[in-house]
Amino acid sequence: MGLRFTRRDFLKSMTMFGVSAMLINKTEIVKALTQSKDYWHICWLNGATCSGCEVSFIQHTDPDLIDILTSITVGESGLPIALPDYMQVVHPASGSLAMEFIDLWKEAKEKRRILIVVGSVQNPGFCEIGGRDFRDLLKETSKFADYIIAFGSCSSFGGIPRAKGNVTGAKSVSDFLKEVGIVKPVINLPRCPGHPDSLVLTLTSVMIGVIPVLDTYGRPIDFYGTNMHQELCPYRPFYDRGIFITKPGDYKPGEEGCRYKIGCKGPIAQTDCALRKWNEHISYCVEVGAPCIACSEPNFPDGDTSPFWKEMPGLPTILNAPAEVWGSAIVAATTIGCAVHFARKMIKEKKER
Ligand code: SF4
Ligand code: SF4
Repeated sequence: MGLRFTRRDFLKSMTMFGVSAMLINKTEIVKALTQSKDYWHICWLNGATCSGCEVSFIQHTDPDLIDILTSITVGESGLPIALPDYMQVVHPASGSLAMEFIDLWKEAKEKRRILIVVGSVQNPGFCEIGGRDFRDLLKETSKFADYIIAFGSCSSFGGIPRAKGNVTGAKSVSDFLKEVGIVKPVINLPRCPGHPDSLVLTLTSVMIGVIPVLDTYGRPIDFYGTNMHQELCPYRPFYDRGIFITKPGDYKPGEEGCRYKIGCKGPIAQTDCALRKWNEHISYCVEVGAPCIACSEPNFPDGDTSPFWKEMPGLPTILNAPAEVWGSAIVAATTIGCAVHFARKMIKEKKER
């Protein structure tokens, strides 16, 4: 009897271990996708972007890109999970022939259409694709999409193109849709670049009919439901003891310290990077001696995420005292506690003798 992996099992596997449950691998994805009724058509558009999100996506490791494009198929379609009908950066066709694939995507009979957008949306005239303004293209395709996924910080919140000084009017996909009167939810998968797991797992969820629960910024709570500093960072014990590194990379193994003093924005970052990590789940920004710059947050790269290498002013304190004060206080209290304990022990031993 073959193994049967139901939607319920998939959900269970995702929620059983809290956030770590989303660290599922190829085997689970393959099993889950057998539950999809049929193939989903994907249209992948690029607005104002550096294409780093695509580079990040193709580095997905378990399953890897070859699996995603060949062996992992959806339902009984025989077609792979994420082989877009149309994708600007990687497409066998070019010119007007390539643009015709957008029309084919719109006409997909099964009405299972996913629109993935990378990059922010600029004012008219700044971004043209196939002779058409990107805004027109996005407006038209959004109307046909059953699900819209904004992958990366630029399409989710505006990102780097929307940074202070932006003269192009760059904005997020959801802000653009509001502006043109299209009322449709957007699943935001911010980070700079987008994390490949977040896209592959969101696609898998949508294809089997499990719609991710989103936070107030449209981010799936499976990836963005935890605070790095409060809940996940392995350097938190150093923070609590007031032990900080003061220069990027300024530590030796065994002499680590929290990155708060070099500008770590972990206290405002709602991501699972400390757990999921990057590059085959090997490491992440904080672990290599850099600060987290909270690239997952709506204000990035401005607001409380900026300047990147500067300590956050007044954050976070405990009962209005900065962390290092508490660190020293804890060390002092521990020292006094040990001394008192030792003195009591001596008196007790003396009495007994
Ligand atoms: S400030 Fe950054 S490095 Fe320090 S504990 Fe918080 S998240 Fe970790
Ligand atoms: S650790 Fe921080 S800066 Fe690095 S990817 Fe995660 S949220 Fe972005």
